[in-house]
Amino acid sequence: MNVLVIGGGGREHALVKALSRSKHTEKIHAVPGNDSMKKYAEIHNGISDSDIEPIVELAVKENITWTVIGPEAPLTAGLADSLEAAGVKVFGPRKREAQLESSKTFAKNIMMKYGIPTAEYRAFTNLIEASEYVKEQGAPIVIKKDGLAAGKGVAVAMTEDEALDALREMFVEGENNPVVIEEFLEGEEFSLMVLVNGEYTLPFDIVAQDHKRAFDGDTGPNTGGMGAYAPVTHIGHDVIDEAVEKIVQPTADAMVKEGLDYFGVMYLGAIITKDGVKTIEFNARFGDPEAQVLLELLESDFIDVLEAVKNKEPYKLQFSSDSMLGVIMASQGYPKDYDKGTQVVIPESIEDEVFNSGLKHVTDDRYETAGGRVMLVTGRGNTLEDAKQAAYKNTEQIEFNNDALFYRNDIGERGV
Ligand code: ATP
Repeated sequence: MNVLVIGGGGREHALVKALSRSKHTEKIHAVPGNDSMKKYAEIHNGISDSDIEPIVELAVKENITWTVIGPEAPLTAGLADSLEAAGVKVFGPRKREAQLESSKTFAKNIMMKYGIPTAEYRAFTNLIEASEYVKEQGAPIVIKKDGLAAGKGVAVAMTEDEALDALREMFVEGENNPVVIEEFLEGEEFSLMVLVNGEYTLPFDIVAQDHKRAFDGDTGPNTGGMGAYAPVTHIGHDVIDEAVEKIVQPTADAMVKEGLDYFGVMYLGAIITKDGVKTIEFNARFGDPEAQVLLELLESDFIDVLEAVKNKEPYKLQFSSDSMLGVIMASQGYPKDYDKGTQVVIPESIEDEVFNSGLKHVTDDRYETAGGRVMLVTGRGNTLEDAKQAAYKNTEQIEFNNDALFYRNDIGERGV
């Protein structure tokens, strides 16, 4: 069958690879895709990931059976709704259901109504009231912009002043967008991917850990994610079971009770607090860079998996017993302003271990940077330690202008 992947980052690069391993796949198309996918897919880089009409036309013309939507923006724009209306099977929730990610107040309201464990919160549309609430609550406290912010709309404020600064910034930028103020939760974080169809849930057996902060030792601003690894062996299966029982299944059931029909990945960002596992956030799609390490370890045929979820059939996901670890190399300055256009050379010997987040071809073996997060350089091994060494060895083989890129040196440290 012909399949279509929407998106052009590292996560979609991993999705294209996973689909290329399926025995059902004849041809893969990607919109807009990226230059590293050309090995597996036809790239349609003249269409953007939220150009709904052209995507639907392409899907019909190319006789696409399954479309997998990678990023949040097209989900929120209603791409799944339009593709479905045209008779294409889509893995990714419709606009209404994608609110679980696109609106923090929507997600919080569901969690509150159905008693799903999460941080206490209040939503504000007014700076003065929000500031008063912060002063009442004290620090540490967490301030979140509502709506999509590519992981950069969150301030974890350790002092009251930091919190007040963050509020001022968000209200100036966002004008009428609500701001959510949350209780600070402390503990070990993890990311669990669950394939959901209404009340049907198929959780991944292994979890991943992302590294949100820009710099070593979890310092610096929040980013879209600076590295990931899986499995997280120090987080036991009992934790996954608790997360499914107390959070994932009740959320899937709650969506059904609300008259919603969620179909796609439900990404649970969770934290293990002293009072049990609590929800940090939901996303309506695979995490990036978690997808790159998790999908590489998934041994099941990806199309078989999608069909099982579509038909709500019992299915046992198979994962390799290996570990995978990936390090994001980012443009100097990210997540704030950064330059594009720096030349990068990836030796052919490690090409398959590099996931392209923001690189475009200059010539066939030379790239230049075109984004903040540039690439995820991965390593695989029997143990996490081996995977980590392999990944960092691979980063050293990438040629670029000295200060143009940076990366964290401590990805996976907690796990090791
Ligand atoms: P994403 O790009 O992952 O969708 P986001 O903008 O939706 O990010 P969150 O995932 O809600 O943001 O928060 C980003 C990070 O901030 C979390 O991974 C966590 O490290 C930290 N964080 C968020 N909420 C809390 C909280 N209540 N207590 C402590 N830390 C938090």
